[in-house]
Amino acid sequence: MSMMSAPSMDSFWMPFTANRQFKANPRMFESAEGMYYKTPDGRSVLDSTAGLWCVNAGHGRTQISEAVSRQIQNLDFAPTFQLCHPMAFELAERLTKLSPAGMDHVFFCNSGSESVDTALKIALAYHRVKGDAGRTRLIGREKGYHGTGFGGISVGGLVNNRRAFGSLLNGVDHLKHAWTPGTEFTKGQPEVGANLADELEGIIALHGAETIAAVIVEPIAGSGGVWVPPKGYLQRLRDITRKHGILLIFDEVITGYGRIGGAFASNHFDITPDLITSAKGLTNGAIPMGAVFVSNEIHDAFMTGPEEAIELFHGYTYSAHPVACAAALATLDIYEKENLFNKAYELGEYWQEQLHSLKEFDVVKDIRNYGLVGGIEFHSGDKPGQRGYDVFEHCFWKGNVMVRYTMDILAMSPPLIVEKEHIDEAITALRNGIKALY
Ligand code: PLP
Repeated sequence: MSMMSAPSMDSFWMPFTANRQFKANPRMFESAEGMYYKTPDGRSVLDSTAGLWCVNAGHGRTQISEAVSRQIQNLDFAPTFQLCHPMAFELAERLTKLSPAGMDHVFFCNSGSESVDTALKIALAYHRVKGDAGRTRLIGREKGYHGTGFGGISVGGLVNNRRAFGSLLNGVDHLKHAWTPGTEFTKGQPEVGANLADELEGIIALHGAETIAAVIVEPIAGSGGVWVPPKGYLQRLRDITRKHGILLIFDEVITGYGRIGGAFASNHFDITPDLITSAKGLTNGAIPMGAVFVSNEIHDAFMTGPEEAIELFHGYTYSAHPVACAAALATLDIYEKENLFNKAYELGEYWQEQLHSLKEFDVVKDIRNYGLVGGIEFHSGDKPGQRGYDVFEHCFWKGNVMVRYTMDILAMSPPLIVEKEHIDEAITALRNGIKALY
């Protein structure tokens, strides 16, 4: 800590935080390396959530910090509107080697939220360039999280993220939550529930396919509480959308870059959507960046007008920022060299068994997992959300493990460098926390 007196905490309005509660008893980090954060009081805290689902290669990777440092000295910024720098092309091409075949184009932005808004805008504009401008409706899903832009909260399915924000949220509809009661404690994908995708046919019948531009879902829903799609569900969505000329967007901001095994969930499930959103693990969380993968068919549809015409009126000052590109390239090198996209295959079963060992507690209502993602849901107490918070706090202060919570659901997604002993450490902290509290 510096010798200067600690700053007042009043000025920073913290995101998605109970500000007054936090500031009364702050949970702070000072540094991080590998699987651990260090707190100002000198404790090592195991990162069981890869920061915010983003630090997939673990903390303090010097290859990334050195690449960033070199880049910022060499070219700190270059516009990518009508000008560019070579690394933007290099990164885009490199990324398309990871995406499913036929998705060979990348649009850069700075976050998951921007990635979602970009994908929704491309979907709408695509139908227009194809002469199908009536396709303006967007379909999301209950409990979906697609960031906090107006586009993202419109298709998102979490009421707290929507209810305060007024009237720009129209022109959307939502699929039902893809989970069936009675499938609690399923390991991996539930066997039942693929037919929940058929509800899309009902939505199409209601509005008319000719009014619908796109359907967006997270292949595994993360922030809304770790919901794993039933076997066959995603394929059905693909079949129905294709049949009706509706674009399918997979929001892979969490599932991208190795989280469930393979580069993307699209590859893992062998389903090619029309657009894939990504961010987070793209730069290992070190520098903000997002990337939207676009199918050749969509991209090429924009490339038919006069050559001097701008094809898409969209972009960000920091699209393909050179420093972010450097961070991403260094990150991809690490993923490749350390074979981290395989880690969920190597350790997924151990992760699953350890997580499900917490079923022994009556307070645990459900446990869900896939790849290196895990969710533990508690029966709500008198005040919904309290149990999630209490276990999270206990783990942070007493168990020295960072977990995440959404209401009464804990979510975990360790860096892909995780080893069995880290999994044991996380589960022990949870077990002790639950025992101490209930
Ligand atoms: N989409 C999904 C599936 C996410 O999980 C998130 C963040 O958790 C986002 C979008 C938004 O990303 P960001 O917070 O970088 O805007």
